[in-house]
Amino acid sequence: MEFRDLHKQYEALKPEIDKGIQEVINSTSFILGKPVIELEKELAEYVGRKHCIACGNGTDALVLALKAYDVGPGDAVFTADFTYIASASCAELVGATSVFADIDLSTFNIDPVSLEKQIEKIIKEGKLRPRAIVPVDLFGQPANFEELERIAKKYGLIIVEDAAQGFGGMIGKKRACSFGDISCTSFFPAKPLGCYGDGGAIFTDDDKIAERLRSLRAGGKSPVDKYDNIEIGTNSRLDTIQAAVLLPKFHAFIDYELKNVNKVADWYTKRLKGIVITPTVLDGYLSSWAQYTILLKNKEERDSLQLKLKENGIPSMIYYPRGMHQQQAFRHLNLNDSDYPNAVEATKRCLSLPMHPYMMEEDIEYICSVILKEIK
Ligand SMILES: *Cc1c(COP(=O)(O)O)cnc(C)c1O
Repeated sequence: MEFRDLHKQYEALKPEIDKGIQEVINSTSFILGKPVIELEKELAEYVGRKHCIACGNGTDALVLALKAYDVGPGDAVFTADFTYIASASCAELVGATSVFADIDLSTFNIDPVSLEKQIEKIIKEGKLRPRAIVPVDLFGQPANFEELERIAKKYGLIIVEDAAQGFGGMIGKKRACSFGDISCTSFFPAKPLGCYGDGGAIFTDDDKIAERLRSLRAGGKSPVDKYDNIEIGTNSRLDTIQAAVLLPKFHAFIDYELKNVNKVADWYTKRLKGIVITPTVLDGYLSSWAQYTILLKNKEERDSLQLKLKENGIPSMIYYPRGMHQQQAFRHLNLNDSDYPNAVEATKRCLSLPMHPYMMEEDIEYICSVILKEIK
């Protein structure tokens, strides 16, 4: 059994993916070719934004988004303590300072109360200017954008949605990648919509920001003369071959994959509810299930269950074993566990189970039978 079975997906989509790749090779239009333009158009339409700017990976997407708003030295950028490093490193990479807030243990997403406390603390210290929030749609469920928008407005902050794991998720009728001022996603192979290498995208409704991003991802080139650079940019474009892989995968995602992962999540929850703490999806929210993450009673129970699953041929992952405040890269900040009680709990008790749209109910039945035998 695989944690995220990319072979099964390839088998289902092989003719289209192979044809797409071959066409790119025939065209020799390897950089920003037609499939990239087509993908940008389709993705923007799907998520409900005016512009999509494809780029090299999700980390670059976040960095470019912050750059496009001139976030830099002296600015505080707030994000969740429990996430993948890029949600926090993006601020540091533009010279700003990353500030962490605790999470809500039921959704694993940033806790608005802790966030507001951290903002107030930064204001009181008076050294940094609160500038942006980078909320993460962790494990596929959008962050609490209603509350976050209220806080952003109150303190005059911009919101950069980190939807690297959230593509496809919804709140009401609104899709992930359309929340806040600007949104970023990743096409890393294991994400809800993944390519065959690195890839990412930025979404915005702002024409000027979109134009600036198209320049920034291509060395800072002028839109009219590519050898006249209007500012210092980077090189971060999506390969045409990756766009050709993503197009059929995106169509499968909207046709049935998003529905299927929700079915798989229901199969898990039906069997595990009351035995372990199953993931909470808030009323009116839809998750794209980047991960199906349960909580055990304590670290001992989590670790022994992971071992038992492994003995039975079932892969599982600990997303994440450390909070941002516990990373070596942020050791100089001298942050305390006591400010991040929920994130610390999550690191000790979380376990992510195999999850992908091609799982069968028998797979879930088998995984859950091992869990039920182990947890009393
Ligand atoms: C994967 C991920 C990223 C970064 O994406 P890459 O394409 O790997 O650079 C950013 N934020 C979160 C929450 C992620 O899971």
